[in-house]
Amino acid sequence: MKKTMNVRFMIISAAAILITALISTILFFHILKRQVFADLQAYEHVISQVDPSMLEISKEEMRVTVIAEDGEVLFDSQANAKEMENHKDRPEIQAARRYGVGEKVRWSDTFSVHTFYYAALMEDGSVLRVAKQSTSLYDVMKNTIMVIVVIAVITFILCAVAAHLLTRRMIEPIERMAHSLLVLEEDNVYEEIRPFVKTIKEQHMNILNHAKLRQEFTANVSHELKTPLTAISGYAELIENGMVQQEDMGRFAGQIQKNANRLLNLINDIMKLSELDSEEMEIPFEKFDLYDLAENTMHMMELPAQKQDVELIFSGEHVEVNGGKSLIEELIYNLISNAIRYNVKGGRVYIKVEVENEHPVLVVEDTGIGISKEHQERIFERFYRVDKSRSKSTGGTGLGLAIVKHIIAQHDAAITVESEEGKGTKMKVIFG
Ligand code: ADP
Repeated sequence: MKKTMNVRFMIISAAAILITALISTILFFHILKRQVFADLQAYEHVISQVDPSMLEISKEEMRVTVIAEDGEVLFDSQANAKEMENHKDRPEIQAARRYGVGEKVRWSDTFSVHTFYYAALMEDGSVLRVAKQSTSLYDVMKNTIMVIVVIAVITFILCAVAAHLLTRRMIEPIERMAHSLLVLEEDNVYEEIRPFVKTIKEQHMNILNHAKLRQEFTANVSHELKTPLTAISGYAELIENGMVQQEDMGRFAGQIQKNANRLLNLINDIMKLSELDSEEMEIPFEKFDLYDLAENTMHMMELPAQKQDVELIFSGEHVEVNGGKSLIEELIYNLISNAIRYNVKGGRVYIKVEVENEHPVLVVEDTGIGISKEHQERIFERFYRVDKSRSKSTGGTGLGLAIVKHIIAQHDAAITVESEEGKGTKMKVIFG
C-alpha cells in the first residue's frame, strides 16, 4: 500500500514535470521565433526604403533577396542572382503575393541551422525577402533544455521526498492503530481519518462491552441456577438421611418442586433470550388482531390473578399488528404477569388495546407497588430486580423485562414506563 502510493505519487509528479517542460519548451521556441520575425520585419521596413543593392550587409547578419513578379531573382546579397533558380514557388513568396507578407522557417540538415524568411510585397510588384540564419536559436534551446532537465530532476527528487513523507504521514496513524486501538488519540491524527478512527474505536469498545456483558450474564446464570439446585440437593439429602419426619415430608417435597420449577422457569427464559439474541433467527411475521391476542393472554392469567386477589380489567378496540405472534404473546404475558405479581391485595390490572396517532398501542397498568425513579431505568437489564426476594417468591427470574425489551427491538416498537412508588405502574407498548 505504502509502496503503491509512493510509486503513484512519483508517476504523477514525473508526468507533471514532463508536461510542464514540454509546454515551456514549445512556448520558449515560439517566443524566440516571434522575436526573430519581429527583427526581420524591422529590417525589411528599413531596406524597403532604399535600393537593396546599395546596401552593405554583413553575411552573418542577414541575407536580402529581391524577387520579381514572375519569380526571377533580381538581387541577392549573398549569391549571384543570375544563377539562382526561380523563387516563385517558395511558400513565403507565395504568401507575400497573396497576403502582403509571408513568413517561413526552414531547417537545413546539412548546416544544422534554422533559416527564418520574412517576405513583403513591394509597390512595384516585386517581393523583398530578408532572411536570417539562426544557429544561435538552437544553442539557446539546447542550453534551456539542459536547464529544464536539471530543474526537472531536482523537482522530481523533491517530489519523491515529499511523496515519501506524505505517505508516511498518511499511513502512520493506521499502522499505529493496528498496534493498539485504545492508546490512539483521535486528536493526534489528521482530520480526514478522524471519523474512521472514531468508528473503529467505538466498534472496538462495543465488542469489549458486549464481551463483558456476556461474561457477566454467564456468571449470573450460574449463580441463579446454583441456588435452587443447592436447595433441592439439601432437601433430598435430609430426606435420604432420614432426618425429615413423616408429617414434614409433604412440605419438603413442595420445596423441592418449587425450586425445580424455578429452575425450569430460568432455563426457559434463558433459552428464549438466547434465541432472541441469535442473529440468524428469522421470526415469521404475520398479521393478527392485537385485541384478540391480548384478551386470550389475559384469560390465561385469570387463575394467578385470583390467587393474588387481583382483578383483571380488559378494554379497547380491534387493531391489526404485523409481527411475530408468539413473541407478542410472550410480551403481553410478561407485562400482565408483572402487573399481577407486583400488585397489592385487592389491586387491579387494566389491559387496554388502542390506536394512538395511527399506531397500535398496548397498555398494561396496575395499582401495585410501583417502581421508584432510580430503578425504572434498570428494570430492563438482565437479572435486575428491585426486590429480589419478592421476585423469587412469585416465580420471577429477573429476565422477563429483558425478554420484553428484545421483542420490542425486533418489532421496531417502543415501550414507555410511568410509575410511582406505592401507587402503581403503567407500561405502554407502541407498535410501528
Ligand atoms: P422478574 O422476573 O423479577 O419479575 P422482570 O424482568 O420481569 O423480572 O422485572 C424486573 C424487575 O422490575 C422486577 O423484579 C420488579 O422489581 C420490577 N417490576 C417489573 N414490573 C413491575 C411492576 N408492574 N410493578 C412494580 N415493579 C415491577
